[in-house]
Amino acid sequence: MSELEVLAAEIAKCTQCLLHQGRTKAVPGEGAENADIMFIGEAPGFHEDQQGRPFVGAAGKFLDELLDSINLKREQVFIANVIKCRPPGNRDPLPEEMEACKPFLDRQIELLRPKLIVTLGRFSMARAFPKARISHIHGQPRKIGGVVYYPMYHPAAALHQPSLRRTVEEDMRRIPELIEQAAQMAETPPPAEAEQLRLF
Ligand code: URA
Repeated sequence: MSELEVLAAEIAKCTQCLLHQGRTKAVPGEGAENADIMFIGEAPGFHEDQQGRPFVGAAGKFLDELLDSINLKREQVFIANVIKCRPPGNRDPLPEEMEACKPFLDRQIELLRPKLIVTLGRFSMARAFPKARISHIHGQPRKIGGVVYYPMYHPAAALHQPSLRRTVEEDMRRIPELIEQAAQMAETPPPAEAEQLRLF
């Protein structure tokens, strides 16, 4: 078993927060272990909880279409979430749940060492840019600790708010170019949020 698989087995048995009580299956994440790109969503929803796989519902279908628009299949990237178990009724994750799950996501990033981390939605964006507004910083890559972070709206946001769809599609289309540029990109901490980099 690879280290990522060992970690996934550990996540499947985790009891660090109360969400384990209501889960059908934990959703560790999946994809290529040598992926250049890692997508980080928010939390499993109903279908993800049933199947133990990330982004398999409506938002996942849209994510697949977005990947297809840049000639990628989900098997070529790695897809994970900030928290690994479904919050009841798909409510927002609580701070203590994100804190309890953080070591798992930290370790996944460490093992994958992706060139690009695409954060989907505000909860995964908040890991890199805690005080930022997604409407201000989506589509703006920043290199932090050698990894390029690229904040995007969550695909589900575009499903609920059709006016965001084009924005999401356009942000997605920049990804191939960002992968090309990732190695040369300078570290660019956002000025107002520079202190947040201590988190990394
Ligand atoms: N939304 C997420 O953020 N993650 C999933 O896995 C599915 C939907």
